[in-house]
Amino acid sequence: MPFSSLSVKLTCIECGQQTAKTFDWLREHADRFDCAHCGVTVVIDQKQVDDELVKLVGAIDELEHQIHALRARLRLVPAHSTSER
Ligand SMILES: [Zn+2]
Repeated sequence: MPFSSLSVKLTCIECGQQTAKTFDWLREHADRFDCAHCGVTVVIDQKQVDDELVKLVGAIDELEHQIHALRARLRLVPAHSTSER
């Protein structure tokens, strides 16, 4: 997935500090993470992570579709033809 290196911030339930984790990390270790600030282990709902990642993939597919459509709509003309007007 193209967004696998993007990160999402997880908020610690104990201290409220945020820890950034990449989507790759989330997919592979999504059941828990250790807060770098207070050391507590926070459990993550892996099912929810899966659901959210599926939504995100759908949104990215839609974005790619929109970009493709935009590219098709753009009217590109050589520079010399515009100066004739
Ligand atoms: Zn913490």
